[in-house]
Amino acid sequence: MSSKVLIVDDDPNVLSGFRRHLRNRFTIHTVCNGEEALRALEGEGPFAVIVADMRMPGMSGVQLLGEFVRRAPDTSRIMLTGCGEQETAKEAVNEGNIFRFLTKPCPPETLANVIEEAIEEHIRIVQEREHIIELQESALTDELTGVGNRRHFLELARHEVRRARRSGKPLSAVMLDADYFKKVNDSFGHQAGDEVLRMLARICGESLRESDVLGRYGGEEFAILFPETGVIKAKDVAERIRKAVAAEVVETEDGPVRITVSMGVASGMGKDVEIGAILERADAALYVAKENGRDRVEMDRDSFLDSRKEAQ
Ligand code: GH3
Ligand code: MG
Ligand code: MG
Repeated sequence: MSSKVLIVDDDPNVLSGFRRHLRNRFTIHTVCNGEEALRALEGEGPFAVIVADMRMPGMSGVQLLGEFVRRAPDTSRIMLTGCGEQETAKEAVNEGNIFRFLTKPCPPETLANVIEEAIEEHIRIVQEREHIIELQESALTDELTGVGNRRHFLELARHEVRRARRSGKPLSAVMLDADYFKKVNDSFGHQAGDEVLRMLARICGESLRESDVLGRYGGEEFAILFPETGVIKAKDVAERIRKAVAAEVVETEDGPVRITVSMGVASGMGKDVEIGAILERADAALYVAKENGRDRVEMDRDSFLDSRKEAQ
């Protein structure tokens, strides 16, 4: 598909001339004033390139391109100026961040070439932005399992803590650790271990609601946050995850791998709630689960007592 180009000029002869010469090379959309150009952006956009006449009744070309900077920053901007308008055009450089100026009358071939260059510029800008987004996402994602990494989890957790402080609703957390995971690596190899970690992330993800937060907290350790959820309900979800993991078989070249997980659950509530304290208590409960034989979920006692008090 050829790139969409919007041409704005109050002179219909200029528009029809450009349309005739350019329509074989680009998808041309023409309008005769700034207001219509903004409507076209809403309806037909986004455009790779906008070509605007500088002097138009109503909204000037400078104002229009300024609007495009705000509303559609990826669109490359070309300004058509009349003779002797170069001084005013300077103002447009700041306002509209123009890719190129062309003086009227402008031969269609010249405009076509400049549009080609502007399209390349547009593609470069879009790719650069996508690249930055990719980098940002990869900095937050655990490559192996595709879930958020520890840093991302803690970032989201701080956000949830602020919300919990405001709402007064409980915030619960689960710490999950694979049991005897080292044995999986030792007996089946590191790749099989990786496969098991992916399975754990998948089962956790499948058991959670959209608003819950899952992160890979360490090597074979995951953390889950349950906003607006009490410790008992969080424990129920943890139990479901525990059972689902225990029932799962990961097939490997060296035979089936089964694994269990231990989990600790804790919660906090009120305006002094702290994520560090909740995770610490969940971790302590996880330690108790390990001590008590693994493949089990333990609840932090204080969180449980608080939730009983709250229920009364
Ligand atoms: P416990 O039941 O007490 O938790 O025992 P465990 O063997 O699960 O715990 P331990 O902490 O002794 O071993 C964890 C192992 O997890 C050691 C480490 O090599 C392995 N591990 C950490 N990250 C990865 C990973 O990304 N891939 C694989 N395959 N193994 C990993
Ligand atoms: Mg472990
Ligand atoms: Mg561990």
